[in-house]
Amino acid sequence: MQSFQKIWETIQWNKIAHEISICKDYNVQKTLSKKIFYLNDIIPLLSKAAEPYLEELSQIAQNLTHIRFGKTIRFFAPLYLSNFCANDCTYCGFSMKNKIRRKVLNENEVLQECNNILQNNISHILLVSGEHEKIAGIDYFSKIILLIRKKFSSILMEVQPLSEQNYSVLKNLGLDGVIIYQETYNIKSYSQHHIRGKKQNFFWRLQTPERLAQTNMEKIGLGILVGLSNNWRVDCYFLACHIYYLRTIYWKSNYSISILRLRPCLNGIQPCSIMTDRELLQAMCAFRILFPEIEISLSTRESEKFRDHVAPILINNISAGSKTQPGGYVTSKTELEQFSPQDHRSPKEVADVLIKKGLSIIWKDWDYYLGR
Ligand code: SF4
Repeated sequence: MQSFQKIWETIQWNKIAHEISICKDYNVQKTLSKKIFYLNDIIPLLSKAAEPYLEELSQIAQNLTHIRFGKTIRFFAPLYLSNFCANDCTYCGFSMKNKIRRKVLNENEVLQECNNILQNNISHILLVSGEHEKIAGIDYFSKIILLIRKKFSSILMEVQPLSEQNYSVLKNLGLDGVIIYQETYNIKSYSQHHIRGKKQNFFWRLQTPERLAQTNMEKIGLGILVGLSNNWRVDCYFLACHIYYLRTIYWKSNYSISILRLRPCLNGIQPCSIMTDRELLQAMCAFRILFPEIEISLSTRESEKFRDHVAPILINNISAGSKTQPGGYVTSKTELEQFSPQDHRSPKEVADVLIKKGLSIIWKDWDYYLGR
């Protein structure tokens, strides 16, 4: 079996950090004058030297986005199924060490949440749960996908990494995609933030996108969580290598990325590195320039102001009105939530702003599952 792990082993964190840190103005200018971009062109684009070029980067990124996707943006909503978790991650409210009320939604509760989401016109759903195989494992996910499949245009999932066989089972039931963030590609930082549980297995997680791609899963989402390692620029470089590898070998799947920043949560840590709004936009532009066909997603972790500004530049998928706790759309109780969102507007309020900025909203594109 091919493996990104072999490539990961050859990339030296400190060497890449050094290469990014010594980039100068002329390296950025030379890269921006190119017509065709190769993997290592992302190095100057991620560097501090590229910061003064943010306006130019944004314009290139916006042009590429419009050429590939038109002036459209797809709305989705996360549906938190369960906050039970058998892991201890230093940055998450669901962590097993936290004494919070735990809940897993039953079928009735799932349907109520879905109806609430559908009333907001959202037809693309992301099923999310803490990582607890006994409480929310393959049997539970199968039951839920069967229950709600016909209600939604697409169903994606963000849960614990599963085996290839289990992904095939879910795909056959109508699952369209899976999001699996490595969070940090620095194994030392990874182990410092994943203290107990199966999530400690760095390589099982690293190989997950490949297991998914081997099932020909329609959509695969990758990403990093800025604040776990001490250098987000290097994490972005590894993410680019990962995408590049997958696109080359497993070209039948569509890929998306997210660059997340840590948000406050119960007993959460302070970030090891800070990424400003401008730096986040710079990093997303770098990905758009290198991978014009890859979708970029944005969550309610970010502020209204930031989301309204960057969405028309390069965002393909945006969540709105999100609740990050099981049962949140019906009860709105925040004591069960994974992290605190920053944008509390309803989907319609967000859509109104984006329409004024010239975007067409995709509430529903097509039913992926038809014909299966
Ligand atoms: S990040 Fe995921 S695995 Fe870690 S505690 Fe939170 S829900 Fe559990």
